[in-house]
Amino acid sequence: MSVYEAVIGLEVHVELATESKIFCSCPTSFGAPPNTHVCPVCMGLPGALPVLNRKVVEYAIRAGLATGCKIAERTRLDRKNYFYPDLPKAYQISQYEYPLCFDGSISISEEKSIGITRIHIEEDAGKLIHDKTQTLLDFNRCGVPLIEIVSEPDIRSADEAKAYLSELRTLMLYASVSDCKMNEGSFRCDVNLSVRKKGETALGVRTEMKNINSFSFVAKAIEYEFARQVSVIEAGGEIIPETRRFDASDGKTYTMRSKESAEDYRFFPEPDLLGFEVDRQTVERIRGELPVLPEERRKMYVGNYGLVSTDARIITSRPELAAFFERAASRTKYPKIAANMILCDLLALVGAEGFDCPITAEALADIATLSGENRINSSTAKKLIKQIADGETRSPEMLVRALSLEQINDSEQLERVLREVIEQEPKLIADYKNGKTAAKKAIVGKVMAKTAGLANPIILNEVFNKIIN
Ligand code: ADP
Ligand code: MG
Ligand code: ZN
Repeated sequence: MSVYEAVIGLEVHVELATESKIFCSCPTSFGAPPNTHVCPVCMGLPGALPVLNRKVVEYAIRAGLATGCKIAERTRLDRKNYFYPDLPKAYQISQYEYPLCFDGSISISEEKSIGITRIHIEEDAGKLIHDKTQTLLDFNRCGVPLIEIVSEPDIRSADEAKAYLSELRTLMLYASVSDCKMNEGSFRCDVNLSVRKKGETALGVRTEMKNINSFSFVAKAIEYEFARQVSVIEAGGEIIPETRRFDASDGKTYTMRSKESAEDYRFFPEPDLLGFEVDRQTVERIRGELPVLPEERRKMYVGNYGLVSTDARIITSRPELAAFFERAASRTKYPKIAANMILCDLLALVGAEGFDCPITAEALADIATLSGENRINSSTAKKLIKQIADGETRSPEMLVRALSLEQINDSEQLERVLREVIEQEPKLIADYKNGKTAAKKAIVGKVMAKTAGLANPIILNEVFNKIIN
């Protein structure tokens, strides 16, 4: 065990799914031909003036409320000055002193929450496209609305960082502020990391790794950077505050530039926009429109449906999945079985993003009921799910009848079949009696084969123990 601990704070940029940009009416949709979603405002032509999109403020408030933040009574936008070719105005309109949302927190496990320092609104920059001989500019992304969600340095490991990002993404999906697609850049993460000896409370010097575009790269960057900083300190060196680049091809981080500080940006109040009040009625209306959030749903799943909390967390991780489970749970007396079927069978059939479910919640609930009432065994349940997912239109009940899939619960019938196997397979029985425990599986397999896979495995096991042991 290392005597050092990692201290990590994450800055996450989320692109808001508003139809138009933050300061002009250009569309925000992804994938348009380069430089077709632009106008004088988002290209920063001289004299063009921004107008704040009200929807952006509402979406950001929604994100703030979903993460337990307070909402500022009064706020404004600030100008952050820097030059880069993807930023035609040579400044970004952001928020510095008075973020729209602040002081939130999100829970990443039963024991731990991560503080949210602030959430502010700002505009995205354009995109540089590098090829072998030239660099091209696409300004379509200029002025796409972003929120930046800044965490407290409460995260201590790569696993906690992943749990935080996953819960944050889940909350943004519930709040429907973004599609949160990392591969399209609508959910991006900067990692700030320092190390210190365990037990110390002062913060060490940090480095920052920008724009890491997958959860597993975040984890790799953290592990590499933690080890690097520890070895620098152990060798008597000092950590230099700097911005580092994570290279996914070798999993290492490299110096890019020394860390910029707030002074470098010459922040000042944005002169082209007025500060504004955020009226409480609007905030309360937005709060009222939020759906039931995952934490409350998890409590309900654990309390009412008997799920373990890690399973409840997986099912609530996507709003469509939670809705599917709840629809199924309302139709069966066996919600826990339905949950297990979702986790073990269904999630393998649906993709990681979206929830294009090949079976209805009603059909899944009916299979859970058949299973809960001991009318089918678990392998039949799996088969039914697969069959319906593959396009079978008959109901589970009809399939069980039509294909004679009822489970055999009759111990006398199973005993007869087992005795047949004993007669036909003297060698397996001798092996088992000589201590080869693996032979039991083969014997049970023979019984299963003779019953077309319909034996109740628990009762079969009892019969086996009674006759053979
Ligand atoms: P900047 O905007 O310059 O990156 P901030 O003060 O806004 O600076 O901090 C950004 C992030 O860095 C926050 O998530 C914060 O929790 C984290 N952070 C700040 N200091 C440290 C530190 N010493 N070690 C680890 N993380 C830190
Ligand atoms: Mg930063
Ligand atoms: Zn525009």
